[in-house]
Amino acid sequence: MICLDPGHGARDSGAVATYDGVEYQEADLVLKIALYLRAELETYENVKVIMTRTDRQGAMPTINPEKIKPRVDYAVQNGADVLISLHLNALDNKDVHGVMMLTSNGYYNQECADIGIALGTNMLLTLSQLGLQNRGHLKLNSSEHRNPNGTVADYYGIVREGIWQNIPSLIVEHCYLTNEDDFRTYLSSEDKLKALALADANGIAAYYGLQKIGSNPRQLIDYADHWAADMIDIAVSKGWVNGYPDNTFKPDNTLTRADFVTLLARLSGETLDSAASSPFPDVPVNEYYAASVSWAVSAGIISGFEDGTFRPTDAITREQMAHIMTLYLKHKGMQIQSSDDAAALIPDLDQIQSWAKDDVLFCYANGLLNGRGEGFVPQGNATRAEACTILLRMHDFIHAHPVQTEETNAAPEAVIDPFMFAPDEAA
Ligand SMILES: [Zn+2]
Repeated sequence: MICLDPGHGARDSGAVATYDGVEYQEADLVLKIALYLRAELETYENVKVIMTRTDRQGAMPTINPEKIKPRVDYAVQNGADVLISLHLNALDNKDVHGVMMLTSNGYYNQECADIGIALGTNMLLTLSQLGLQNRGHLKLNSSEHRNPNGTVADYYGIVREGIWQNIPSLIVEHCYLTNEDDFRTYLSSEDKLKALALADANGIAAYYGLQKIGSNPRQLIDYADHWAADMIDIAVSKGWVNGYPDNTFKPDNTLTRADFVTLLARLSGETLDSAASSPFPDVPVNEYYAASVSWAVSAGIISGFEDGTFRPTDAITREQMAHIMTLYLKHKGMQIQSSDDAAALIPDLDQIQSWAKDDVLFCYANGLLNGRGEGFVPQGNATRAEACTILLRMHDFIHAHPVQTEETNAAPEAVIDPFMFAPDEAA
């Protein structure tokens, strides 16, 4: 069950802007988006939608639309799995535009925070496909509140209260009401508001692996009898990997270098900036994997070949995978201890190139990559199905080895960049 929360309401108008002599209020516009979104979500199987308000005043007698906590209480008391608060952003600086998610810092309830972030990442992708600049996640710390365990609380009320009540909650700042381009491109007609709602729904559906009513997925999709079917199910439902538009998954297709990096970018749950320029001449900025490749470069996970290319459509080799996986785990703060224990188990050890040898030994020793009967086969390739099993192992490995960062117990962040958030969400 999904609880939609159209932000503000009653006397609280939220952001306000006037164009062509007409005043537009956030509280009214996000209500329209929410109603379109509910209608769209209800075309999916097994989805139930509740709303914290369905008109300007707040029809639900238990909810005061001007207060934050009752919205979370309402979602929790009705058994919702997630609370999605719909907003429009506003800034004095009217040049700022784009879509942004306000999500939890994860200090109190990591699992809950992770769900909000992964869901938000899916929604950022589908919303940015409308042309909105992807401003990523903002995880702002409160300078006033502490979590019950003493760690730094989240700044935004609905995120903080959600985390405390164990419901993933995120704020979707669709675009800037105060930016005229954003207004005219995304907010100035019913069709445009509906398009935002549709993008929201697509992101939500991708995250939960929702299927349209009547589409009967497993009969259309081609992996039901595949050895990796359960792993593919999980990888798809977590939004790490997608099917093809013709409703197939093609589990035995060979994995390319670009695809592997794209899957890792999704697994990371980190913000992808739609890059203005590409780090490699053979990675065009308009390719679906461009943002993921840029992310991987800045995260130190890939560096390309000596000739400056990335060769995105080449099949990835198993030793390249081991190298990239190890760098990904390092990026995630894992201690990587190379281990010679596995060396005796890999008969084709001398076939592995020197730059990948430690990585292969590490991945093999930790069960992240298996051998292939006759050896490790370092120059062999991988399939999409194998990629799903590897992502799942990486995910489990990271969760089994939590990283204790200094941040976790850091002092409250007092510095708040006024250009990074809408003051109206502070309550
Ligand atoms: Zn708002």
